[in-house]
Amino acid sequence: MIDVNTGKTQNAARVLQLLRTENHLTKQDISRRLHLSMPTTLQNINELLEVGILEECGTSESTGGRKAKKIRLRPDAGLGVGIDVALHHIELVVTDLRGTVLAQQRLPLQFRDTPTWYQSLGTALEHFLQANQINTQLILSAGISFPGIVDNESEVLLHSHIFSLKHIRLDRFHRTIPFPVVVANDANCAGFSELCAEHSTYIYVSLNESVGGAFLMEGKLYLGDTWQAGEIGHMLLIPEGTPCYCGKHGCADAYLSPKVLRKKGETLASFFRKVEKQDETACQVWNTYLEHLAILLTNLRMMLNTDLIVGGEVGTYIVPYLDDLCAKAAKYDLFARDIDYIFPCTHTENAFSAGASMLALERYGSRLLARIETEK
Ligand SMILES: [Zn+2]
Repeated sequence: MIDVNTGKTQNAARVLQLLRTENHLTKQDISRRLHLSMPTTLQNINELLEVGILEECGTSESTGGRKAKKIRLRPDAGLGVGIDVALHHIELVVTDLRGTVLAQQRLPLQFRDTPTWYQSLGTALEHFLQANQINTQLILSAGISFPGIVDNESEVLLHSHIFSLKHIRLDRFHRTIPFPVVVANDANCAGFSELCAEHSTYIYVSLNESVGGAFLMEGKLYLGDTWQAGEIGHMLLIPEGTPCYCGKHGCADAYLSPKVLRKKGETLASFFRKVEKQDETACQVWNTYLEHLAILLTNLRMMLNTDLIVGGEVGTYIVPYLDDLCAKAAKYDLFARDIDYIFPCTHTENAFSAGASMLALERYGSRLLARIETEK
């Protein structure tokens, strides 16, 4: 029997955590990766299989020719809610345990730090879950993506430039959302959404209205001393360059925000249509943009020698131009034989909200164990 208060459950929770980002593993893999003895591993896996949290999914060739059964997390054993609080709207999603979006809705609910707004959020979420016939018993947590610096220890939003806010207590969100809540910086949520078996250590570059990023180290977000790790939009790109909204001159944000690409009234999609049609001005603007992006990316590569994922609004258009970007990066990285470390983002939609759900599931996913125990 799984008792949530024992070390044994901690082992079960570790098995869950490991399988959250891996597609599937054998029992031997799990034992090795978690440094657990085979009997302990088997006991935990068997219990998790029995209650339907894990499932078998085929076999893999193991050494010695005997086929080993592959185990994976049953994606629908639990659900998570993700909420993106953007400048002019909120986006609600429900995801499975792997972060796959099962339902989504966007609402024109402009953020205000007032009791009425938090109440409206709670009501909107309730209606969204009802309309999509979501079994709320299965929901383990809710993650909120917020454009600002979040102190997770003190549960305070320290600063939000776009909402001109400082020092907001995050328990305001907890009051109207009936699930355990995690609030996190929006770029960190988007960065976390890329976590998978292939990528667990990387820098995510968020090329959105305000440029940001996230640093994932072995599957964990690295937040830094003052919760600001990954604020790559304010790394200096061009000394004495274009003014940035932060007050400095020459920040990466001033050169890599999508604002640089689209003219007033134009969408990013229409800008890229012009590039596709070889419009001379658009191509020049895009070429300069890629040049600046190559400088930023190679600086990040020099610092941490890790994979780089190009995300955000511009990241969703990057695939056809990746070779061009890598060729530009090669001019600034003379150590690398190939520029094989720049990747396009895989979440082109719902990155903030789905990432927020995944972050909350990272913290509260093991509630699955407690709930199944009480259901017994
Ligand atoms: Zn700046």
